[in-house]
Amino acid sequence: MKGAVVWDTPAQYLRGVGPVRARALARLGIATAGDLLQHYPRRWFDRSSLSSIRSCQPGHEVTVEGEVLTASERRISRGRTLQAVTLRDDGGGTLILVWFNQSFLLRQLRPGLRLMCSGIPQAHAGRLQIAHPDWAVLDRGADHLHTGRLVPQYPLTRGLGQHWLRRLIHDTLGPVSADLQETLPEALRQRQELCSRAEALWGIHFPASPLERDRAQKRLVYEEILLIQLLMAVRRRGLAVRAGLRLERPGDLTRRLVTSLPFELTRAQRRVLAEILADLRSGRVMHRLLQGDVGSGKTLVALIAALFVIEQGWQALLLAPTEILAEQHGANLTRLAAPLGVTVETLTGGTAAATRRAILVSAGRGEVDLLVGTHALLQEVVRLPRLGLAVVDEQHRFGVLQRGRVAAAVDGGQAPHVLVMSATPIPRSLALTLYGDLDLSWLDEMPPGRRPAHTHVTPSEQEAQVYESMAAILRDGRQGFIVFPVIEDTAGSDLRAAKVEYERLAAGPFREFRVALLHGRLSAREKSAIMSSFASGSCDLLVATTVVEVGLDVPNATVMAVYHPERFGLAQLHQLRGRIGRGAERSDCWLLVDPWVGVEARERIAIFAATHDGFRLAEEDLRRRGPGDALGVRQHGEPGFRLANPLRDNAIVKACVEDAGALLAQDPDLRDLEHRELRLAVERGLTQPRPAAAG
Ligand code: ADP
Ligand code: MG
Repeated sequence: MKGAVVWDTPAQYLRGVGPVRARALARLGIATAGDLLQHYPRRWFDRSSLSSIRSCQPGHEVTVEGEVLTASERRISRGRTLQAVTLRDDGGGTLILVWFNQSFLLRQLRPGLRLMCSGIPQAHAGRLQIAHPDWAVLDRGADHLHTGRLVPQYPLTRGLGQHWLRRLIHDTLGPVSADLQETLPEALRQRQELCSRAEALWGIHFPASPLERDRAQKRLVYEEILLIQLLMAVRRRGLAVRAGLRLERPGDLTRRLVTSLPFELTRAQRRVLAEILADLRSGRVMHRLLQGDVGSGKTLVALIAALFVIEQGWQALLLAPTEILAEQHGANLTRLAAPLGVTVETLTGGTAAATRRAILVSAGRGEVDLLVGTHALLQEVVRLPRLGLAVVDEQHRFGVLQRGRVAAAVDGGQAPHVLVMSATPIPRSLALTLYGDLDLSWLDEMPPGRRPAHTHVTPSEQEAQVYESMAAILRDGRQGFIVFPVIEDTAGSDLRAAKVEYERLAAGPFREFRVALLHGRLSAREKSAIMSSFASGSCDLLVATTVVEVGLDVPNATVMAVYHPERFGLAQLHQLRGRIGRGAERSDCWLLVDPWVGVEARERIAIFAATHDGFRLAEEDLRRRGPGDALGVRQHGEPGFRLANPLRDNAIVKACVEDAGALLAQDPDLRDLEHRELRLAVERGLTQPRPAAAG
C-alpha cells in the first residue's frame, strides 16, 4: 500500500516493517499506525543532563557517558551467567554494569566503545554497579532520538529492539500527526486546559521537557477516561429502558438449599442476596457486579440466585473463565443442586461431540435448568429459550467491552438478568470506572474460621528446606502446589520452567508422593483429568503454572511454593495463595526469591507477605503498575487504561463523570459534528467487542 500513512494504516505497511516484524508488533497489540502511536513509553530516561561517575550516589538514578574498558562473563549458579562491563568516564570515575544471562551482550559491548547508560547504581563489594542498565552506544555521531534528551522506553517483545521501535514510532508520528482528527470538543479542551491530540502524541513520545510530557499525559488520560465514562453512560441508559423478567413467585428450592448447607450464610452473603433478589423481582433487567475477595463465597451466592430463577420455571447459565473452573463449578453445583431435582449440565472443550449435541438439544427444549460452561460458549449458538439469569464468573483479564456481549449472545427474546462476578478484587474507585454501567454488590466478609496462610519470603537457595517442610505436611495427608511462571524453558531466560522442574521434583525431593504437572498447554481432557485427581485426593502435589490461579477450591490443599514471585502481580499472587487456606487447617505459602531480585520487587513481595486483604493488594498493585498491567485491562482496540490509572487520576475521573453527563445531556446521540470522533469511539465500544487477548 502506497500513499500517506494515516491512523488506520496497517502496521505491516509502515516503512521497515515486514511480515515478521508485523507479527512481533501484533504480540504487543499493535495492528495499525494508530495502535503503534498508542503504544506509550513505560518510562523516559532523562538523558538531557549527564552526571559524572565520581558524583554518583548509590540509590539515585543517573545517566552517565563513558568508554568500555572491559567486558567479561562468568558462570554463577545453575548454569546462569553474569556479564560485567567496566565503564570509565572522562572524569576518570569507573562503574560496573552487570546483567544476568545475556551472553549476547558481549558481542555488542566491546572495549573501546563509548556508551551512554542510565540506571540506579548500588554499592557492591566496595564499588558502584548498575544492574541491567538501559544503554545506548554513542559511536558515529550521537543520534538525536536516542540520546541527550528525554528518551522514551517502550515495552518490547521478542524480535523488536528499543532503538528500532523508537525510530518507527517517530517516523510514523510525523505523517499521522500532520492529519489527525481532534477527538475532544474545543470548549471542553479550553475549560480543562488540555492540549491538542497531535501535541499530546508528540509530547508523550518525544517530550522536550518533563512539563510537556505531563501536559501530554494529562490530555491523553482525560480522553481515555472520558470515553469510558461516555460508554458506560450510554450503556446504562440502554439497559435502564429494557424490561426484564419479573420473578415474583418464589418456590422453595433456595430455602431447601440453604437449610441443607452445613454452615450459615454470612451476613454479607445475605445482604448481597437481598440486593440481587430485589433486582430479579423489579421488572427491570439486572446488570450487577458481585465483588468479593478470594474465598468470600461468591459461587454460593450465584447458585442461590440461579435457584431463585429456576424455581420459577426459568433457566440459568453460568460461564466460567477456564475449562478447569467450568468443570469444578459443574461438579459442585451438581452436588448441591441435583438432590433438589435441578438438572445441571456442563459443557467444556472436553465434552464429547455427541454429548455436546445432546446437551444443546435438551437445553434448547428448556429441559436443562442450569447450564455451566466456559466463556467460549458465547461464541457458539446456545439457545436457552427460558433463560432467566446469566452469571459470568470473570477472568482475571477482562475487557470493558466483552461484557456487552453476554446479553446479546444468549438473548432469546426476553432479556436475561446478568450477574457478573469478579474473580479479582477490584478497588472501589476502579470498579466505579470500569463497571460504571453495572450496579455493584460487595461481599465484604469472609466465612468464619478462615485462617490466613502463613506467608514466608525465602531465598531460593534454601529451596531444599522448603521442600522438606512441604514434604512433612504432605506426609500428613495434605496436598499442595509448586508454581512456576512459565511452562517451557527458553534460551536466554533465567526463569525456571514448570516442565523441567516437574521432572526434577517428581524424581527427586518429592518422589515418595504422587506428583502431577498442570499447565495451560495440556488438552482440556488432560487438564480436567489432573484436576479431578487432585480434587479427589489421588494426587498430592501439583507442579503448575498460573492455570491454578483462579477459583480452584480444594480445602485439603494447605501448602504452596511460588518461584519467581516478582514476576507476578500482587493481585495474581493473592489469587494463587487463595488456592490454599480454604479449610480450617493451618496453611503455608513460600515465596522463593532469587538473589538478584531488585529492591523494589522485594518491597512488593514483603507487602504481599504481610497483607491478606485482596482489595488492599489490588490497590497497591494499581498504584505501582497501573491498571493496564496490574489487571490486564489493556487490550487491543479497546478504549482506556493505556495511561489512565483511576487511583492516581481520581480528580480526572470526577471531572470526566461530570463532563460525560453534560455532553450527553446537551447532545444525547453525539450527533454534533464536533462530537463525531467521540461518537465513533463509543459506537465501536458498543458494537465491536473483541475477545480478550489470550493471557
Ligand atoms: P470465591 O468464589 O468467592 O473465591 P467460593 O465461592 O469458592 O469463594 O467459596 C469458597 C469456599 O467457602 C467454598 O468451599 C464454599 O463452599 C465455602 N463457603 C461459602 N460460603 C460459606 C459460608 N457462609 N460459611 C462457610 N463456608 C462457606
Ligand atoms: Mg470463585
